Formats: sequence, structure tokens, C-alpha cells
Amino acid sequence: MKKSNELFNTILGLDEPWEVERVDLSIEQNEVTIYVKYNSNKGICPECQQKCDIYDIRESRKWRHLDTCQLKTYIVASLPRIKCHAHKVKTISVPWAESNQHFSYLFESYAIEFLQATLNQTKVSRLLRISFSQINTIMKRAVNRGLKRRSQAEIEYLGIDEKSMKKGHNYMTILYDLQQGVVLDAIEGRKEESAIKVMQSVKESNHCDSLKAVSMDMWKAYINSSKAVFPDVDIVHDKFHLMKYLNEGVDKTRRKEASKLYKVDDNSLKHTKYLFLKNTENMTAKQSLRFEEVKSMNLETCKAWAIKENFKEFFNCTTINKGKFFFNAWYNDVKESGLKYMIEVSDMIARHWNGIISYLRHKITNSLSENINGRIQQIKTIARGFRAFENYRVSILFYLGNLDMSSQGIL
Ligand SMILES: [Zn+2]
Repeated sequence: MKKSNELFNTILGLDEPWEVERVDLSIEQNEVTIYVKYNSNKGICPECQQKCDIYDIRESRKWRHLDTCQLKTYIVASLPRIKCHAHKVKTISVPWAESNQHFSYLFESYAIEFLQATLNQTKVSRLLRISFSQINTIMKRAVNRGLKRRSQAEIEYLGIDEKSMKKGHNYMTILYDLQQGVVLDAIEGRKEESAIKVMQSVKESNHCDSLKAVSMDMWKAYINSSKAVFPDVDIVHDKFHLMKYLNEGVDKTRRKEASKLYKVDDNSLKHTKYLFLKNTENMTAKQSLRFEEVKSMNLETCKAWAIKENFKEFFNCTTINKGKFFFNAWYNDVKESGLKYMIEVSDMIARHWNGIISYLRHKITNSLSENINGRIQQIKTIARGFRAFENYRVSILFYLGNLDMSSQGIL
């Protein structure tokens, strides 16, 4: 038995005064239990690192460790308490785990890597033979560790966006670091109160002194929250959201015109919805031909479509002055077109002018959030939905936060 004690001493990386006392094997229960002993009458105070006298020994504790040849393996030890002059009676730290946790550092790290590789909590819970709630605890602890270590990087560009959580009107707000391409945090809701809360928390746990701009939709709650938390930082209205409003203007124009034409038996606009919404470069040859045909008919919808297409030129303007010049000309064209829905969108854009023109200063967009939204959906599907928002948030940060979550013992 002495040999196996030495073997486990080496495997666990134990140094004096820690020592494996004995190893029990239970074939019936598929378990290996490693009993570890502390051989000294002195110990280190966990608060001040001073060497102190041992005061007493607490009852034994058990930690799940990595399997030994597919046998569940536990470490069992009775932890001494020291008496420090400054910090009174304290339990000493152990080298293989946090003393108040159920898993060793190595087990936890293995679970983290496994989860990241599979994205699948159910599978990992089954293969590691631990409960779903223990998986959640490991993930939550990992995320909290990661968030505490994150304050190093300077953030220059933030993105804020909403994501619907379920069918209906449940939303969450997500904050991104646009340069690193990571999720910084997520919160339930998309009202001003939630947005302020999440921005405030990101501001407190990261370096935001060099923040230059926040990219967002023209959603009032997000504009107000950014002004409240980062009053000196530019707001940039996101290009993809702007194009979405313009597309909606084109679609409303098409629907109205189509129904007018149907009344006089004119089917020119039948089945054309996606022709007007699709990028021309993504069309099939057949679609292109049909689209050319529709465009030659001098319809209001085609004028609306041209207005939307022309606006894309704004994003290519190389200076603020060119941008101003372009916008004024475009805005006049829209007014002259007399197209109600396009005028409405152009007025909305004009009302948000500061956030529009600042695009040319910073050239940032929320395109990253599109990509990340797909991955969030994947996480949600694999986890078969989340009952509590906090678990959802933990999963998003665990997989998409690019956090350093390694457990303390193996840093
Ligand atoms: Zn102390």
C-alpha cells in the first residue's frame, strides 16, 4: 500500500507537510478514496501568510477529484485550524482545492475545458457523473473568477444591443467589446433602467477611461443610458439597424402600392417582397432578370428602393464634410420623392444626426452582435432553454466572454 500512497502523493503534487495516508478502493461503489493527512503543528494563516500554531482539527471533508481509471475519486482530509494573533482562528488552505468547495482544482478545470469543447451541459453532467446544478455552480464560479480578472484590457468601443429571449416580448440587453469581439455582460430587459445597470457594471469592472464610442440602434433607452453612464463618449447609430429601418420603409411602400395595383388587376408587384429586400449581388440569375423587369416599370417601390440603396453611399464618405454634403442631398431627394414611409425614416435618421455623423469618425458597427446572436441561440438550444435568467447570463459569459476562468490552483 505504501507504493500507492507515494503514487497518489506524486499525482496530487503534494508537498510536506501534506501526505497521502492511505488509499481505499471500493469496487462495489466504483470509487477510490484518497485520505490526506497534515503532519505538522504549525500552519499558514490564509489571511496574512504568517506561520502560526495549530489550534484544532476540524471534521473531515471530501472533494471530488479526477477519475482514476474510470473510478470516481475523492480526496478526504481533516483540515487543521490555526490561531493567528491578527486573524484569530482560521482554517488553513489546501493545495488541491478551495477548502469550502466540493471539487478539486483539477476536476473543476477539466469540467470547464470539457464544457467549452462540447457546449453541452447535459452531456458533461452525464459523463462526469455530477448533477446539473453542480455544473451550474462550476460555471458560475468560473465566470465570476473570469470577470474579476478582466479589468486589464482598455475598452475603446462598446456595442449595446437587444436580443429576444423567447417568443413574445422578453428581451435582454447585451454589451459587447467591439474590438475584442466578446460579450462583456448581459441583463434581462431592454429598458433604460436595465441598460444603465449593465453599463454601470461594465464601467466598474473594466478600464473604460479610453472609451471613444458606443454603437447602438436609435432606441431611446440605450441612448439615454449611454448619456447617463458615459456622458463624454460619442454615440454611433449602427449601420445595420439604419438599413433595417430603410428596408422596412421600402417594404411598407411596396405593400401599399401592390394593394393599389391589385385593385386594377395589375400584378406587377406580386411575389416581389424578397427581391426588394435581398442584396442584388446575392440574387440568382432568374431573380436578377425579374428584378430588372420590375425596376423598369417606374414604380414608387422602385424609387423607395433606390433611396435606400443610395443611402449606403453615406457609409463610404471619407470626411465629415463629405458626409454632411451627401446627407443633405439625399435628404432633399427623399423629400422630393413624396414617398411617405421613406420620408418618415429619413426624418428619424435626421433627428439622430449626431449619432449618424459620428459613424464617419469611428467607423464601428454592431455586426459582431449578429454573429454572436447566432451562437447564443446555439447555447440556448443545447441547454434546452433556461429557467432562470442568471443561468442564461452565466452561460453566455462562459462561452462568449473570452474570460480567463482557470481555477486558482493551476494558474
Ligand atoms: Zn493572520
